[in-house]
Amino acid sequence: MPITIFTQGKDLTPWLKVFKEKRPDLEVRTYSDNTPTQDVEFAMAWNHPLGVFKNFPNLKCIASMGAGVDHVLRDPELPAGVAITKIIDTNLTKDMAEFILVLAMDYLRGISAYKVQQLQQNWQPIPYKRIEEVRVGVMGVGVLGMYVAQQLHKVGFRVSGWARTAKRSESINIYAGAEDLNAFLSVSDILVCLLPLTPDTANMLNKATLSKLPKDAFVINVARGEHVVEKDLLQLLDSGHLSGASLDVFRQEPLPENNSLWTHPKINITPHMASKTDPTSAVDQILENYDRLMHNKPLINTVSLQKGY
Ligand code: NDP
Repeated sequence: MPITIFTQGKDLTPWLKVFKEKRPDLEVRTYSDNTPTQDVEFAMAWNHPLGVFKNFPNLKCIASMGAGVDHVLRDPELPAGVAITKIIDTNLTKDMAEFILVLAMDYLRGISAYKVQQLQQNWQPIPYKRIEEVRVGVMGVGVLGMYVAQQLHKVGFRVSGWARTAKRSESINIYAGAEDLNAFLSVSDILVCLLPLTPDTANMLNKATLSKLPKDAFVINVARGEHVVEKDLLQLLDSGHLSGASLDVFRQEPLPENNSLWTHPKINITPHMASKTDPTSAVDQILENYDRLMHNKPLINTVSLQKGY
């Protein structure tokens, strides 16, 4: 049985190369209009053409090619009874933590702000903060968020987390549920969003929540663009309540030319590169699930369709 990849616009060259090295006899093919409908049981997906999966009656597993599964679950015609899996990978997790550490350090020392001043030949010292003075709040303390929180704690930040369900951690103060949200926001000088995109978390970073952050707070969104209500963020940056924001993900990607986020002086933009799934490490778990499916064994890294993550 082959693996069939369903995607639009993703360069599959590195994935196909790793599959070839690790499993030369396995057929890994990309979906086309000619793909026979009967022999697709195991699919991989990244931004697949919506509605396509309903044409494959033997489909049993859709493996997301990243940590997020929102791009799969947003398909209104997803067939029932198909398992959805996500990537949980050490490289992906570590890369995310390194990215957040860079941004948190930039918040302390203003390196990006100095670059702007340099271009204007402006010699202007900016007051700086020390690590132990700064409280970081990580929204979503799952695979990525918990590791990020722990790494921030290790270098000396005071770190809180927010999740849907209560959990304990020796180093991180974890808040849970809607009832704890305001308390969590009030201790987040830097807010890091690492929530999955679900109906409950869409538009979570809005005027009501962002205005609960301490004055001069900095917002980092590395989850999904749909978490942020852009006009609310802009309003709170312009009013001076927020000192800045670093955005890696957007409602439309690439970010359209005419979007005012591009030119806002308090916003840093990166092109959805906080952490990238690396096929050299991620292919193993796809193959593991492929083998499990072949042998009727329970799959790993499955997501709950009910929770949406
Ligand atoms: P997980 O599923 O492991 O963790 C999700 C966390 O969010 C959990 O702590 C969960 O709570 C919490 N959560 C979910 N819903 C709610 C809610 N309604 N209220 C409060 N907390 C909630 O996700 P990952 O850590 O693997 O990934 C997070 C996201 O990061 C991905 O979905 C993806 O969108 C994004 N991402 C971005 C990348 C980039 O390059 N920019 C790269 C990779 C991922 P609980 O623990 O109680 O279940």
